[in-house]
Amino acid sequence: MTLTVIDPATEEPLAELEQAGVEEADEAVARAKGAYPAWRAVAPADRARLLRRLATLVEENAEELARIESHNVGKPIAGARGEVGMVAQVFHFYAGAVDKHFGETIPAAGGEAMTFREPLGVVGLIVPWNFPLNISSWKLGPALACGNTVVLKPAELTPLSALRLAELVLEAGIPEGVVNVLVGKGSVVGQRLIEHPDVAKIGFTGSTEVGRLVMRGAAETIKRVTLELGGKSANVIFEDADVEKAAASAPYAVFDNAGQDCCARSRILVQKSVYDEFLDRFRDATGRVKVGDPSREDTEMGPLISAEHRAKVASYVDAVPHAFRGEVPESAGFWFPCTIVEATNDDRVAREEVFGPVAAVIPFEDEADAVRIANDTPYGLSGSIWTRDGARALRVVRAIESGVLSVNANTSVRVQTPFGGFKQSGFGRELGMHALDGYSEVKSVFVSTEE
Ligand code: NAD
Repeated sequence: MTLTVIDPATEEPLAELEQAGVEEADEAVARAKGAYPAWRAVAPADRARLLRRLATLVEENAEELARIESHNVGKPIAGARGEVGMVAQVFHFYAGAVDKHFGETIPAAGGEAMTFREPLGVVGLIVPWNFPLNISSWKLGPALACGNTVVLKPAELTPLSALRLAELVLEAGIPEGVVNVLVGKGSVVGQRLIEHPDVAKIGFTGSTEVGRLVMRGAAETIKRVTLELGGKSANVIFEDADVEKAAASAPYAVFDNAGQDCCARSRILVQKSVYDEFLDRFRDATGRVKVGDPSREDTEMGPLISAEHRAKVASYVDAVPHAFRGEVPESAGFWFPCTIVEATNDDRVAREEVFGPVAAVIPFEDEADAVRIANDTPYGLSGSIWTRDGARALRVVRAIESGVLSVNANTSVRVQTPFGGFKQSGFGRELGMHALDGYSEVKSVFVSTEE
C-alpha cells in the first residue's frame, strides 16, 4: 500500500512512498541484528569519528534538511533551520560521549569488582510527527554511541527527513544495517517492533495513549522502554515577576510549532494581583505572532499537521468564549489561529493536551495555590516559573512534579541536559549523558585475586 505525504501548508502531495508491512519490519530487524556484532566491536575512537562525520554531513546538508522538514511538517523555515542545527550538535555531542561513558571499580573482598556498560543489541525507535528529525537524533545519537543497531520508524505523516538522514548515515561510512528506516503504520510496523523478540528496547516518543500500548506490548518480552509522552505544562507567573518580559515570551512558549509541542506551556497560571496586566500584555504579544507561509523568513507559526488534527484542536475551543483569536491565511492549508481562553484548571482545555495553538489562562491566589494547580494534572513534562525572588523560585521548582523546568525563561531542551517526564509524561531521559543509560546495560563483574 502506498502512502501519500502531504505539505500541511498547501495540502499538496510531496511524495508517494511504499509502506512497509510486518515482513519488511522483520527484515529490517534481521539486518540490524546482522550488523550488531561488527558495530559493537568498532573501536570507540572510530565510532566517534563516524558519528562526527554524520554530524558534519548534517551541517553540510542543513538547508536541504530544513526545507524537507519545513514542507513536511509545515514548520517555519527559520525554526526548521534551528532544529537541524540541533541535530548536528546532538551527533557531535554523542561522538564526544562514546569514550566517556565508562564503568567503575568497586571495593570488594577477595578480588576486584567492576562494571561495564554493554549495548542492548537491536533497538526500535518510534517517533512522532512534530519534531521528526530532532527527536530521531535524540535517540539515534546515544543508541549508536553505545554500540546498538537501530530500526527507526518515523510517523506516517512525516517520514521524509528520516529517509534523507538514512542516506547521510551511509555517506558518513556507518555500515549498512546499523541504521534502518521503516516507513509504515504504527499499528503495523510499530506494533511489530514492540513484539519482536530480537528487539531489545523501544525508544518511544508520542502520545500517552500509544505509550501505554508500547509499555503493555513490551511486557511480553521484558523489553526496555523509554517513553517520552504528552504534556500539559504550566507557565507560572508570580506578582513579583517581570510581567512584561513573561508576557512577551509566553506566546512562543505555547504557539511555537503551532502548539504541537509536548513542552508547550499551554496552562498559564497568573497570580490574581497581576492577572489583568498579564492578560492584556499577552494578548498584545500574541497579536504580533506572524502566522503564514512557512517558507517565508519571518514566519513564526505555520499550520497544523492535518485536517483531522485541526478538527480535534477546534473541539477544545469552538464552544467557549475566546479572550483572543488571531488571524490565519485564507489559502489552502490546515490553519488554526492563536487562541487564548480564560479557564479554570477543571476545564477540558486545561486538563487534556490540546497540541495546538491554544493557551488557557488560569488565575491563582498564592504560592501554595500555584503549586497545587500546576501539579493538578496527570502529566509532568515541562514548565516555567517567573519570579524575582530566588528562594521562591527554588521552592517552587522543587515542588512542581515535572521533569524539566525553567526559571524566568521558557526553554526545555538543550543537547547537554537531561530531558524527560514525570508521571504520565513518561520515563527515561533523553539528551545529555543521561540518555546513554537508556541505551546500555550495566554489567557487574567480580575477579578473584586469590592465589
Ligand atoms: P502518536 O502516539 O500517535 O504516534 C507516535 C508514533 O507512534 C508514530 O510513529 C506512530 O506511527 C506510532 N504508533 C502509533 N500507534 C502505534 C502502535 N499501536 N504501536 C506502535 N507504534 C504506534 O503521537 P503523534 O500524534 O505522532 O505525536 C504527538 C504526541 O507526541 C503528543 O502527545 C506529544 O505530546 C507527544 N510528544 C512527546 C514528546 C516528548 O518528548 N515527551 C515530544 C514530542 C511529542
